[in-house]
Amino acid sequence: MTQIRLHNSKTRRKEEFTPLEADNVRMYLCGPTVYDRAHLGNSRNVLMFDVLYRLLRHVYGADHVTYARNFTDVDDKINTRAAESGRSISEITQETIGWYHADMDALGALRPNHEPRATAYIAEMVAMIEDLIAKGHAYAAEGHVLFAVDSFDSYGALSGRSVDDMIAGARVEVAPYKKNPMDFVLWKPSSDDLPGWDSPWGRGRPGWHIECSAMTDALFGPSFDIHGGGTDLMFPHHENEVAQSCCAHPDGQFAQIWLHNEMLQVEGKKMSKSLGNFFTIRDLLDQGIPGEVVRFVMLGTHYRKPMDWTDRKRADAEATLRKWREMTADVEPGEMSEAVIEALADDLNTAGAIAELFRLASEGDVATLKASAQMLGLLTDPLGGWDQVDTGDHGARIEALLQERAEARKAKDFARADALRDGFAAAGVIVKDTADGATWEAGPNFDPSKLDEL
Ligand code: AMP
Ligand code: ZN
Repeated sequence: MTQIRLHNSKTRRKEEFTPLEADNVRMYLCGPTVYDRAHLGNSRNVLMFDVLYRLLRHVYGADHVTYARNFTDVDDKINTRAAESGRSISEITQETIGWYHADMDALGALRPNHEPRATAYIAEMVAMIEDLIAKGHAYAAEGHVLFAVDSFDSYGALSGRSVDDMIAGARVEVAPYKKNPMDFVLWKPSSDDLPGWDSPWGRGRPGWHIECSAMTDALFGPSFDIHGGGTDLMFPHHENEVAQSCCAHPDGQFAQIWLHNEMLQVEGKKMSKSLGNFFTIRDLLDQGIPGEVVRFVMLGTHYRKPMDWTDRKRADAEATLRKWREMTADVEPGEMSEAVIEALADDLNTAGAIAELFRLASEGDVATLKASAQMLGLLTDPLGGWDQVDTGDHGARIEALLQERAEARKAKDFARADALRDGFAAAGVIVKDTADGATWEAGPNFDPSKLDEL
């Protein structure tokens, strides 16, 4: 069996991965807060976890891996968006979840087995908070419930900080009801105009961190295999998840392995909404860039390295995939390359796996290329968004050539008609003759420059 090795943020080392139960591998990724379109950075760990999911299914069997990714659908950013737009919260979250699915589907990401929404787990959160209070790890004050960081000796271990450093370095909200400035909110009161649920502490809503603790517990139990998110979530979000879950379940260990991806950057800066330097996945798809091309570029950099999105990478990826799609068009996938599996098993070395795909392509081993690329979610059917290839200004030219072909046929100029047919094939234009005339679409190897020769 392939031995997977993963870099565990908890131990800061690459470790051999051994699932707690080989027939029940459990992985959890912190998903989006749903009030706006996902930006390109948000796709980074979705794609990384998608490759991990595919690899785990390959090694342990598809029925033995469970992948959960949450939707944060209660959050002050959502409330603000609703107030600003005059729309209801459920309308906004519902719409955003739909967009998220469409965008991640377009990148070829498999849907997780579970996509829990925070609002569906309020009762579980309340129960966990009550348990934390009973065990002396949390306290109620002025309608809030706070987690007492001093009650958990290992607080700060995941991110490698001491509580004193945190207080010195962080912009913590100093509130009179906090015993320690680092104590964080488990529950807070809601005014009548905000979403709220009845609780032992009055009408209120959960803090952000408790949802992942309550949902992993409900879906996976107190111990599970892999938990991930961006490095930006390591503190405070993941640190707080560990504190909540380990204090509620002292016998559990919460996540065995923590995986953190580095940030996607633009011009050397983290892509983020607050910096205003972001573009959405939909922006790229709307420019006619196939989802598969975005996927290829994103997987070209190892997840633990910062990555820059550049138009040059986009163009190179597009040319490569066009070529590979052409080479493998009529080929049945063969055996997967061991070298590709080995690369992925080595802490998800997607860049190394892609280098191996290039080698297979250069050797003309197309059956292995296709099978191995599919392990990375590439060269799959349907066409990974190529059916929406933007034909730009070429549409009119293609229409004119089709018209010319019809006239050539009518005039029995078969040489010209055949030359046009061959030209369309060379340019990757798929022509279908129907009773109502010819229709066309741009295929994956669409190359309009070939039309110039006609
Ligand atoms: P958010 O909706 O901002 O909480 O982010 C959702 C997920 O996207 C989290 O796992 C973040 O770590 C991740 N993320 C946010 N910004 C970036 C970025 N620029 N690069 C990579 N991952 C990001
Ligand atoms: Zn989380």
